[in-house]
Amino acid sequence: YYEQIKQSERLKTTGQLAAALAHEIRNPLTVVKGFLQLYEKDTAYSADAKRHFRLMIDELNIAEEVLSQFLSIAKPNRNAVTETVNVRSVLQSVVDLLQSYGFFRDNKIELKVMEDCFIAVNNIEIKQMLVNIIKNAIEASKIGDSVIVTAERKKDFVEIKVTDFGDGMSEEEVKSLGTPFYSLKSKGTGLGMMICFNIAAKYNGTIDFHSKKGEGTTVTIRFP
Ligand code: ADP
Ligand code: MG
Repeated sequence: YYEQIKQSERLKTTGQLAAALAHEIRNPLTVVKGFLQLYEKDTAYSADAKRHFRLMIDELNIAEEVLSQFLSIAKPNRNAVTETVNVRSVLQSVVDLLQSYGFFRDNKIELKVMEDCFIAVNNIEIKQMLVNIIKNAIEASKIGDSVIVTAERKKDFVEIKVTDFGDGMSEEEVKSLGTPFYSLKSKGTGLGMMICFNIAAKYNGTIDFHSKKGEGTTVTIRFP
């Protein structure tokens, strides 16, 4: 009985249990995907077989994405240090990172930040948040459209805006944002916005959506 208590203490919260579970599933997935990638290049297999391998790899990629996003919710880094972060340079690196993501549908990200803006957050978490929001903007965009990113110092906060001219959302859809697994995409995880809201809340930030179906969306992020 005593041993049992000690055991259960090791996995104190359901969050830790969930994180451990996600880890355990991720490792075998990586192994299976590795072999499928080898088979996909192996000339011994028919074109049909290769098509099936590709399908399996695509599905495993989604599972991996769900797990890694789920992990960051189930087990957020509680030791993440709060540091003074320049929003201008964080945005620059996120935009550089995502520019190639927009390439294949000819979407460009235009960064228009004129001034240094400092906020007190964790550098990795703020990046994770911005990547999720800008990725959503690219995914909602029509071929050839741009995504516009701005940042400005206001009186009591720094305001970041991400604007796209794509799908847009109804009021109902905006209300659903942040609900776990809410996604209208065939390959979405539905966890991105939940991660963003968690990170914003941690630093007393806010995320607001101004959106119109068929016209586009502006996401306004404010950090004190
Ligand atoms: P995912 O991107 O994996 O679907 P998210 O939590 O990031 O999950 O987003 C949830 C849903 O919110 C998306 O599937 C999409 O329907 C909607 N959404 C988010 N951002 C936008 C946007 N900029 N324009 C239109 N719809 C959006
Ligand atoms: Mg997303």
